[in-house]
Amino acid sequence: MTYTFEPIGYIRSPYKEKFGIPRQPGLIPEARGELVLVAPYDRPEAVIGLEGYSHVWLQFVFHQALREAWQPMVRPPRLGGNKRVGVFASRAPFRPNPLGLSVVKLEGVRTVDGEVVLELSGIDLLDGTPVLDVKPYVGYVDSIPEARSGFAPEAPSVRFAVRFSDLAEGQLQSRHEPEHLRRFITRLLELDPRPAYSGEPQPGRVYGIRLYDFDLRWRISADVIEVLELAPPGVD
Ligand code: SAM
Repeated sequence: MTYTFEPIGYIRSPYKEKFGIPRQPGLIPEARGELVLVAPYDRPEAVIGLEGYSHVWLQFVFHQALREAWQPMVRPPRLGGNKRVGVFASRAPFRPNPLGLSVVKLEGVRTVDGEVVLELSGIDLLDGTPVLDVKPYVGYVDSIPEARSGFAPEAPSVRFAVRFSDLAEGQLQSRHEPEHLRRFITRLLELDPRPAYSGEPQPGRVYGIRLYDFDLRWRISADVIEVLELAPPGVD
């Protein structure tokens, strides 16, 4: 038996590539995004009452993790990328049905100019992610403080301090809401977005990810990450 679903909407996100996205929602509260509903689901009535909830569950497709075959075991980044667990004991994008589940903060609901948009924060989703469903987060059901959490008992720890070079600082100041952007970038880099198997950072090596409309470049030395620049995309 197969079942067919179509997206009710798509995510607008600052994350333009998979690399660098936090591994769960909520780790970077400054990560703002939107869910834009599409026809025929973009009916204003469909979101009436949603403003009464502070958080929502999003069920989505890992559309950039589609594979013909699936593997029963995966290597979670949290375990350093070299220890394996069962796919159903993980939140890995590569799974028999590439479906993701994220609880995110609902900042607002906008229904103007023919668009129905959910304003979100704390997202861990790639730009363009297809969303299959939205459900309100209900505290007494969905929060289980005594729950055991397997190999991820607590949020990842912060290992680096983050500083901005003079160039990056100037570029930051010329952008919209620079202090918000500073906190966003700082939290993102504190979490060490390099792939799990990267090992110790190579001093002097420049790392980069695409965010919003720029390429964020940084370098790691000892326990400090230096943001080098917020470069125009595609410029080396
Ligand atoms: N919270 C969700 C869950 O538990 O199902 C996602 C967890 S998954 C470990 C998070 C990672 O999925 C992110 O770090 C990002 O690299 C990846 N990701 C996010 N959106 C994606 C998409 N649309 N397609 C493929 N990978 C995506």
